[in-house]
Amino acid sequence: MNKTRRSFLYALGTGVIAIPLSTLTREGSALAADAPKLDPEDPTAKALEYVHKSPDATKLCVGCQLYTGAADAEWGPCVIFPGKVVSANGWCKSWVVKAG
Ligand code: SF4
Repeated sequence: MNKTRRSFLYALGTGVIAIPLSTLTREGSALAADAPKLDPEDPTAKALEYVHKSPDATKLCVGCQLYTGAADAEWGPCVIFPGKVVSANGWCKSWVVKAG
């Protein structure tokens, strides 16, 4: 392993890189406030059967690993739909339980 790679892995392990990531997350949340709501008629949304209100109360966007919005927000970003926000109470076929 070369020194650059070792230094990177060390920084990753010590959390030095986590500081900029948390900044990005905050900026992402600020941007999300201005982002348009995902249209369920969007082709990707349709393909994934996205709905603003989940048919299953145990499977909500807010509890999905791919949801990056605040836990108390009504709408938030989703990794699958960049530039849009999804309903915290929504759902789609890509739902996967949030870790942790
Ligand atoms: S992947 Fe689907 S269920 Fe998960 S947050 Fe995005 S839209 Fe919601």
